[in-house]
Amino acid sequence: MNELLFCPFCGCDAERVDIDAADDENAGGSFVRCRRCDASTAIHFDRKENLTSAWNSRRGAILSPAASAVLSERFRQVDGEGHTPAADDTYPGGLLARAAASYALSAARMALPAGLWPWHASWWKPKDPRRDLVRAGALILAEIERIDRAAEKEATDGR
Ligand SMILES: [Zn+2]
Repeated sequence: MNELLFCPFCGCDAERVDIDAADDENAGGSFVRCRRCDASTAIHFDRKENLTSAWNSRRGAILSPAASAVLSERFRQVDGEGHTPAADDTYPGGLLARAAASYALSAARMALPAGLWPWHASWWKPKDPRRDLVRAGALILAEIERIDRAAEKEATDGR
């Protein structure tokens, strides 16, 4: 397998870095790191063909492919679809959970109760059960994060 898997800690893309600055004590070394968080492999100076497997094997020990897929989808929603924390905070409580429930029902091949899907019908894009559950999981994460931010804000405002 030559392809770098998603970060086991945050689900973001990973990249290989070759250290070539002559003044760097690690010049000539290479490592793989997450583009978002600080996760990385050790620096390899030889046997660099093992870099990919060194990175990819970190993943299985911590997150299953399913969990990694949910986190990746969450970041895709934030970066690609504008579901930023600020935008999510404008939603009434439960709205993201309703969207998640819609995709979970779709995965179960069940009909949606009228009014459950919170957005315009053109935004409703069910695919297959796994993909729908990944979206549901990511939307549940978004709702939990929104709840946590609201609690944090309330605690801060109350001080
Ligand atoms: Zn990461």
